[in-house]
Amino acid sequence: MIETMDISITKTTASKLPSVDMENPQFGKVYSDHMFLADYEDGEWKDLRIVPYGDLSISPANTTLHYASTIFEGLKANKTENGDVLVFRPDANAKRLQLSAERMCMPAVPEELFMNAMTELIRLDKDWVPSAPGTSLYIRPFQIAMDPYIGIRPSDKYQFLIITGPVGAYYAEPVKVKIETKYTRAAAGGTGFAKTGGNYAAALKPAVDAQKEGFNQLIWTDGKTHEFVEESGTMNLMFIINDTLVTAPAGDTILHGITRGSIIQLAKDKGMKVEERPVRVTEVIDAIKDGSMQEAFGAGTAATVAQIKLIHHEGVDYELPPVSDWKYSAEFLNTLNGIKTGQLPDPHNWIYKI
Ligand SMILES: *Cc1c(COP(=O)(O)O)cnc(C)c1O
Repeated sequence: MIETMDISITKTTASKLPSVDMENPQFGKVYSDHMFLADYEDGEWKDLRIVPYGDLSISPANTTLHYASTIFEGLKANKTENGDVLVFRPDANAKRLQLSAERMCMPAVPEELFMNAMTELIRLDKDWVPSAPGTSLYIRPFQIAMDPYIGIRPSDKYQFLIITGPVGAYYAEPVKVKIETKYTRAAAGGTGFAKTGGNYAAALKPAVDAQKEGFNQLIWTDGKTHEFVEESGTMNLMFIINDTLVTAPAGDTILHGITRGSIIQLAKDKGMKVEERPVRVTEVIDAIKDGSMQEAFGAGTAATVAQIKLIHHEGVDYELPPVSDWKYSAEFLNTLNGIKTGQLPDPHNWIYKI
């Protein structure tokens, strides 16, 4: 297989790097000099190539533009003190992209293709990996249908691409969130476990409405009863209650977050009690009221850990204890950052060195 994986490389003649503030990059605003592309045609991935970052030319009848036949991944690379580039658990992202592909009727990108493409691209754009504290290189692999056809059916042609860009911290401040009891992110039997475009487009209105009411994000509840909490925005949701890590089980409607899985592992490593079980809205509110809720946070690649200082439910604000006193989420964040930047040991082999 590896023999057929020759990647052709066309380098840019005008790097944008000198114009970029690498000390303070803004999330999603700047992209590195190069991108990777591969075409799926006649049942195989071909024409593997790295080219200067630039616009795509797409038919107005392209099926992805009409029916959201698109899936993506998000992961990060960091630079160590001696200049090595480390990527956090890319094999897990490669596997999850395949899971999303299966749900969306798309051909799988082989893990080997994912890894080789990512490795070659980052090797070429190594100077785009920032090294200031809190910064990293965000890596966005994605896959889209390419048939110029507005009938509804799986495509014959697909494209797999990777773009990257330097990013800083996502949320600087602890967030205020609202428990959503009207709209639904994911339903049983739906696509909630897949990172597919439509899920995020459909989540915009509820999120914007919540922002108008003064909240940073939503806590999604189950689509059927709205009695159980699921995720927070595009992060998994975790609580510390009576020194136990409590989080809803990943599955059909709750995305299998890699940060979530890593934090559960870190908690177990330090001998903490972990409960993966359905969590009722009433339990969350009661635990805040009686003081047993010590911490609440979102977990995801973009923010790693986003602490939640306030939870709103049906007209009432519930404040958590002062974030400055929290020890668990801060420790998870520090440990993950330490592993990602090579400053702490990596006992679970999460790090992939470019
Ligand atoms: C990507 C994502 C997450 C977090 O997954 P990570 O692998 O930790 O980045 C959680 N929930 C949703 C809905 C997501 O899209």
